[in-house]
Formats: sequence, structure tokens, C-alpha cells
Amino acid sequence: MSQHTPSYYAASANDDSRHPKLDGDLQTDVCVIGGGYTGLSAALHLAEAGFDVVLLEGERIGWGASGRNGGQICTAYNKPMDEIEVLVGKEGAQAFWDVEVMAKQLIRERVEKHNIDCDLTWGYLHTAAKPSHMRWVTDTFDEWARYGYTDTEVLDKTEVQERVGTEAYHGALWEQNGGHLHPLNYVLGLARAAKEAGVQIFEETRATDVQQGANAKISTPSGTVSATYIIAAGNGYLGNLIPHLHHRVMPVKSFILATEPLGEEQARSLIRDNDSVTDSNNICNYIRLSADNRMLFGGRANYTGMEPKDLFPYMRPRMLRIFPQLADARLDYCWGGTLAITLDRMPHVGKVGDNLFFAHGYSGHGVALSGMAGKLIADAVQGTAEKFDVMARIKHQPFPGGPIRMPMLAIGMLYYKLKDMMS
Ligand SMILES: Cc1cc2nc3c(=O)[nH]c(=O)nc-3n(C[C@H](O)[C@H](O)[C@H](O)COP(=O)(O)OP(=O)(O)OC[C@H]3O[C@@H](n4cnc5c(N)ncnc54)[C@H](O)[C@@H]3O)c2cc1C
Repeated sequence: MSQHTPSYYAASANDDSRHPKLDGDLQTDVCVIGGGYTGLSAALHLAEAGFDVVLLEGERIGWGASGRNGGQICTAYNKPMDEIEVLVGKEGAQAFWDVEVMAKQLIRERVEKHNIDCDLTWGYLHTAAKPSHMRWVTDTFDEWARYGYTDTEVLDKTEVQERVGTEAYHGALWEQNGGHLHPLNYVLGLARAAKEAGVQIFEETRATDVQQGANAKISTPSGTVSATYIIAAGNGYLGNLIPHLHHRVMPVKSFILATEPLGEEQARSLIRDNDSVTDSNNICNYIRLSADNRMLFGGRANYTGMEPKDLFPYMRPRMLRIFPQLADARLDYCWGGTLAITLDRMPHVGKVGDNLFFAHGYSGHGVALSGMAGKLIADAVQGTAEKFDVMARIKHQPFPGGPIRMPMLAIGMLYYKLKDMMS
């Protein structure tokens, strides 16, 4: 039976519901492939709007990135707004910004409406890992203010060190409307809400073939689903199921370490206000406390698709560089997962043919954006595609390199790693 990857999240999951395997042939309005935030969000909205929805998950709900991530609810995109303006113009960039604001609002609304117990907490620190990165902090403060977002504050070195127990950071941009949550409990809550709304969820049911057409057909090892619409929401785990999408995202592995519970006092000495913390390195650290006061330290990036055999020694030195005071802390969990990046680091949202919608490649910003992308797909299926069309305006290029694209990217990232090491 498929299990969640062993992690702090799996160990503290608050819902162990199982869903059956597909057994036979079904006809439905919409077939969603993938049981993470993107797929469940689309499924939930469509079921609430009266559509008949079937969702196929190859493993378990939340088995992919949605059940393993850092839980950090980020603001904006993995690209500065002025570069987005170059891609889609000022008006388009404003629409992208609005989508991002709505994405975070959607998490708030869902948690309240569906009573999802997922430790949702607000407050976010974007720290400067080098003195020269303070320029990024102040530029971002100004840029976000131009988009009307002023719940932010620039902190100097002394101020950031009062909030985060390390000498590694030289200042920060603090914001009120970023935050963090328990990612697996959030996705399990979405699945419960989707099921209550009428979505038929099947686990351990991998879509192995998709035939598009007026009555599209999705094959699995244990049955088929015929559908008017298909939504591909497999993100970094989709593989080559939809050839048009395959080379437009690159699967990337990231890793998280969880210490033992540290107690309230030590936890607050590490992150005083329980904010989410990231740093400005190209390959960034993402850091936060769990509800039971563990340090959850995420980072590294691996483009080979392989996971080191023992993840503890792989991640521990990275954490100790920032928090040497944790040298004696017991390490309870360390795990990895696969996210998807695009060539230009903007989410890839769109349509293949008349009736296959997709969204993926959130490039590290998917906790909030994926839920919103699922909702925009649901809106587009219902005929309201205004915001969906804005997102689909970015024409994503495939990663160059064909079969050697992974080694090429690995070399590219080595360059960024070296850049991070230089002051
Ligand atoms: C370690 C890690 C840390 C991260 N940290 C953050 C963070 O702090 N903040 C942030 O914003 N983002 C973060 N991310 C990214 C974020 O988790 C993702 O962007 C987001 O979860 C994407 O959701 P999704 O539903 O699109 O994809 P996923 O959650 O990956 O779900 C895809 C699902 O589709 C299923 N699937 C694939 N192919 C098929 C098929 N053929 N048939 C049936 N099912 C299929 C998979 O089994 C999987 O469960 C992180 C990711 C990782 C891995």
C-alpha cells in the first residue's frame, strides 16, 4: 500500500483517510490527474459548481510536493515584478500580482470555510544573506509598494538578529501576509472538502495514457475514465504523460531536516515571532518552526533526480552554518521531494487542445500559487478565463539540451552555488 514519505509531516498527519483504487470504467465531466494542491483545488471548485469530478492520484493524496514542502506561503513570484512587466506589460504584471494576492487569501478562506487544522501562521522574513543583498531588500520593498503592498518593513542587521537567532543575516524584508502551514494537513483537509463536495477520489491509480478528443479517455492499470475535460496536475511527478508539457518543466529535488522538539524557549530564541524565514541566496534556505517547536530547515537543490542515501549528513552542516547552537539537537526526520521549475521561473498554466488544462512549474512558490492555479482552471472550465488567460500569456520554452538537459542544469546550478559562496 502506498505511504507518504517518512517525514515530520507524515508523523503528525491528522487524517489517515484512504481512498479506493479505480476499478472499472467511469464517465465524468472532469477528470483531474494528480492529488496535490493544484488538482484538489480545481476539483473542489468544480464540484462546488455542480460538475461531476473524478480525481486520480498515482500514490496517496498529498504524496507529492504538496505533502512534503517547507510550508512557506510566499509573496510574489520567483522573478522580480519589473521582469514580469517586460514579459506581459504593466497591466499584465498587475494581473499577476492580483492573482498572487488572491492565492494567499484563498488559503485563509479555505482553512476557515472547511475548518482545516493545519497550523496556519502569518509573518514572513526575507533575509539578506550578504551585505550586498540589502539592495535586493530595499528594491523589493519599493517594488511591492508600487503594487500597493505596504504591510512590509525593512529591518537592519540588529533588528533581524533580534528576530532570528543567527549572525548570518544582514537585514531583512518583513511582511505580514506571508506565512506558513503544515502542508500535508492542509492538502488532506482539501481532499476531505473535495470529497464532501462530491469529488470521487481514487488513490494508487496512475494515469498511464491520455487520449484527447471530444470525449477524452484516461487509462489506468485498473480502469478508464472518459471525460469532457482533463486537468493535468502532476507537476514534478507527471513525467512524459503529456508530451507537450514534459520538457517545459524540470523536476528538482529539495530537502528538509526536522530537529527534535526544542521547547518554547529555545524555539523563540531561534525565530522570535514564529515567522517563516528564507534567505536571498540563489539556492536558498527556507526555515521555520513547527507547531511543536522543532526547527524545520529546508534547502539544497538536486537536479540529478537522485537522493543521497543518508540525508542527515547532507543537510545538517547547512543548518549548523546558520544555527551553530543546534549542534547538540537530535535530528528526528530528513526527507526530500520533487518540485518543478520552468525556464523563466514563472508558473506554466494553459491548455493543450480544446479540453486539456494544466498548471505546474511554480518554481518554489507553489504552496499558495498552485491552489490559485487550480481555481483559475476551474473558472476557465466554467467559461470565465480572464485571469487564466493572463497567466497563459507567458509562452514557456522547453528546457534546452534534450537528453542532456539535466546535466546542463546541474552545471548551471553549480555556477549559482559558487556565486552564493562568494561574498
Ligand atoms: C521539499 C520541497 C519543499 C518545498 N517548499 C516550498 C515552500 O516552502 N513554499 C512553496 O511555495 N513551495 C514549496 N515547494 C513547492 C510546492 O510544494 C509545490 O509547488 C506544490 O506543492 C505543487 O503542487 P501540485 O499539486 O502542483 O503538485 P504535487 O503536490 O507534486 O502533486 C502532484 C501529484 O500528482 C500525482 N501524479 C503525477 N503523475 C500522475 C499520474 N500520471 N497519474 C496520477 N497521479 C499522478 C503525484 O503522485 C502527486 O501526488 C516545495 C517543494 C518541495 C518538494
